[in-house]
Amino acid sequence: MQTNTRGAGLETYATTSMLTVFYHPGYAAPIGNHIMPIQKFALVADAVRELPGARLVEPVPVSESDLLRVHTPEYINAVRTGEPRALAESQKFPWSPQLYPSVCLTSGGCLAAARQALRDGGSAALVSGFHHACADHGEGFCTFNGLVIAADALKASGEANRVAVLDMDLHYGNGTAQLAASRPDLFAISIYGNDYWANVPYRDVTVRRHEDGGNHRSYALPSGCDRATMLRILDEALPSLAGWKPDLLLYQAGADPYREDPFSPLALDHDDLHARDRRVFEFARARNIPVAWVLAGGYAKDIMKVVRIHAGTFEAWRAVWS
Ligand SMILES: [Zn+2]
Repeated sequence: MQTNTRGAGLETYATTSMLTVFYHPGYAAPIGNHIMPIQKFALVADAVRELPGARLVEPVPVSESDLLRVHTPEYINAVRTGEPRALAESQKFPWSPQLYPSVCLTSGGCLAAARQALRDGGSAALVSGFHHACADHGEGFCTFNGLVIAADALKASGEANRVAVLDMDLHYGNGTAQLAASRPDLFAISIYGNDYWANVPYRDVTVRRHEDGGNHRSYALPSGCDRATMLRILDEALPSLAGWKPDLLLYQAGADPYREDPFSPLALDHDDLHARDRRVFEFARARNIPVAWVLAGGYAKDIMKVVRIHAGTFEAWRAVWS
């Protein structure tokens, strides 16, 4: 782990021993028996507690002004009050009074990890990045887009000007792509194997996404994608990110590309996803780019396999930085 000395314009870090990981039991709103395994965040927290050199810290929720940089007042109000109900539940969670505080906390975790990474070189939040959330509605279990909320908050405070998102969740990051379009200081890459809208194991991911442009790129992983193919495509994508010279990288280390995930057409196992994480961290370390990562999706029937993938990301971090 490293401590940032970028205040002097330097891009070097001095070694510190602790990785700070943001977790709060209040992340989980009551959503009943849902395909989203919301208990996984607590299980990953249990795994992180066992890791040497990691400490769990509770974040504070984001403020309404943090939300308003990214989301419309009508949508924020719907999530807070439950009305209109269709908008409040557009992410496909049942609304409850606990929803709004929980999603303010998850975005708070994302922001806290981003801020910590700027200081230490790396940090993580045990939340999803919520990459399907758009400005005026939620989608795909994503209420507020914590990635973009964090990026905009850091820009507003002057802590970081250029933030990059590397999204390696299985699903195409449509919300982040849409939000990037009006944010020239946000650079977003989505490397995906499921084009999300139908959430079926495979649809045609060969089409170029219309959001692709100056500050958004997408790369489709082919059906049956193995480690070599994934790393080749990742290596193809990373130079554009390096060339953009971000102050901070937000990494969505999704567990749903896993071969046993019900939505995944890919052939990637635990070791392959560990290799993915190592490649991302090695890339960032070589360029002194601070990294904050989040868990994103993971729906395999055996939830402990999902937890093992997320724990593998922490092991990859330690392997690269220790
Ligand atoms: Zn996903």
